[in-house]
Amino acid sequence: MDDCIFCRIAAGHIPSQKVLEDEHFVAFRDINPKAPQHILVIPREHIPSLNDIDGWGAAQGHELLRFIVRVAEQVDVAASGYRVLTNVGPDGGQEIPHLHFHILGGEKLGDFR
Ligand code: AMP
Ligand code: ZN
Repeated sequence: MDDCIFCRIAAGHIPSQKVLEDEHFVAFRDINPKAPQHILVIPREHIPSLNDIDGWGAAQGHELLRFIVRVAEQVDVAASGYRVLTNVGPDGGQEIPHLHFHILGGEKLGDFR
């Protein structure tokens, strides 16, 4: 989608600090980090939110989880610990309507609600 900022990042049309990428997913640093390590993981395919993964099979879901762990290893938070979250819709505080998972770590994270 030409007007989607994360599609444009995935395609390399908008610069980003990429951490890891493969055929299906891209990980890059959040522009406004909320923790010492704050990475976003997106599918290359435009999917608006977690509500829209009906086209995915179990294998792709598992690949996503494995990719997230590889990113955590890459930025050296796998052992110390980290948090993974995805915001969905208005009440979830989703600002960008392209599915993305936040990986936060690099310090002891506070409680969240
Ligand atoms: P959300 O509120 O879950 O939709 O999160 C969107 C996230 O995208 C925020 O944490 C923003 O700081 C981040 N963000 C927005 N534009 C960019 C960009 N061009 N590069 C990296 N991160 C971005
Ligand atoms: Zn998109």
